[in-house]
Amino acid sequence: MRASLPPETADVPTLLVKIFGKDRPGITAGLFDTLAAFSVDVIDIEQVVTRGRIVLCALVTRPHSDHEGELRSTVHSWAESLKLQAEILSGTGDNQPRGEGRSHVTVLGVPLTAESTAAIAARITSTGGNIDRIFRLAKYPVTAVEFAVSGVATEPLRTALATEGAALGVDVAVVASGIQRRAQRLVVMDVDSTLIQDEVIELFAAYAGCADEVAEVTAAAMRGELDFAQSLHARVALLAGLDVSVVEKVRGEVRLTPGARTLIRTLKRLGYQVGVVSGGFTQVTDDLKERLGLDFAQANTLEIVDGKFTGRVVGEVVDRAGKARLLRRFAKEAGVPLAQTVAIGDGANDLDMLNAAGLGVAFNAKPLVREAAHAAVNVPFLDTVLYLLGITREEVEAADAHDES
Ligand SMILES: [Mg+2]
Repeated sequence: MRASLPPETADVPTLLVKIFGKDRPGITAGLFDTLAAFSVDVIDIEQVVTRGRIVLCALVTRPHSDHEGELRSTVHSWAESLKLQAEILSGTGDNQPRGEGRSHVTVLGVPLTAESTAAIAARITSTGGNIDRIFRLAKYPVTAVEFAVSGVATEPLRTALATEGAALGVDVAVVASGIQRRAQRLVVMDVDSTLIQDEVIELFAAYAGCADEVAEVTAAAMRGELDFAQSLHARVALLAGLDVSVVEKVRGEVRLTPGARTLIRTLKRLGYQVGVVSGGFTQVTDDLKERLGLDFAQANTLEIVDGKFTGRVVGEVVDRAGKARLLRRFAKEAGVPLAQTVAIGDGANDLDMLNAAGLGVAFNAKPLVREAAHAAVNVPFLDTVLYLLGITREEVEAADAHDES
């Protein structure tokens, strides 16, 4: 038995073998079977298949110089027999060590244009980053690709790419690599205009005949122009006298955001805990918690006396600070460090929560929120958040198929 390779392979003579051509079963086995005759050791393997074409790269130790020529001709004739192209390069050592600073850059486009891709790649390079790997996360309903980048710290890369993404009109999310990304175990979402497409208070207001008045106050509060608690009390007061029977009607009117079920189902399968915090009302969030199998839900509670809304809320008000407080509380209860939480929201009252989380995602948010969050998604599909966590569409669909069978 040969000694295994030393951890430091810098001076070891190596061969880079690249195979390209039409993919078919047995190529990888065939190549290594051919190489095995020369007793070489594997240092690295990378393989991708794109539209039926395989690129297989193998980095192996170089055989004794007496045998190198024979190895080359054997590999070339094997490749020719399968109508593949082979390239063999001599050299020394392993891959270049990757630079300090590792990030995952997720790019979402509908469609993803070559122009945008060029601009983003150029910006990564101009910040001193190197693109180590690129792969596709999803092709539908958005095209999502992930760049693994090294050589630049996450923060400056995020700033540079946020500017570039905004100019191009594509979503670019930059997340630090490392074990933490895989250990994210709690996702907390805002409800109104995030988990659902509606603003719940506006649904109630329609029954109270004050929809326009309420919508105006909501918009101002979401833009950060009004103190949330004040605006909440002002709007709830307009609901005074409304019959409690509207609660059932409103629950039935709530429209989930496209991708919401997929997001939650997938996260639950992966062992995440999922919660919602809302400046809206427990009368609706409790129902959502039940229907969607959420672990946590907290919101404001409309006071009901003798079957009528009093126009007041009871208990602790869930406002901007309250949402961040609840994120911390849920994290504690879930036994998940705050750094391993993900928060998703669209409004100014989500800002503290987005900042407190390990990864704060602005979802179709106002510019103020988008600029402050770690990542922004501006396509109307909530499950695209999965791509920021490195989960591919293929994995989501495979898990769905597995559960159905
Ligand atoms: Mg919202």
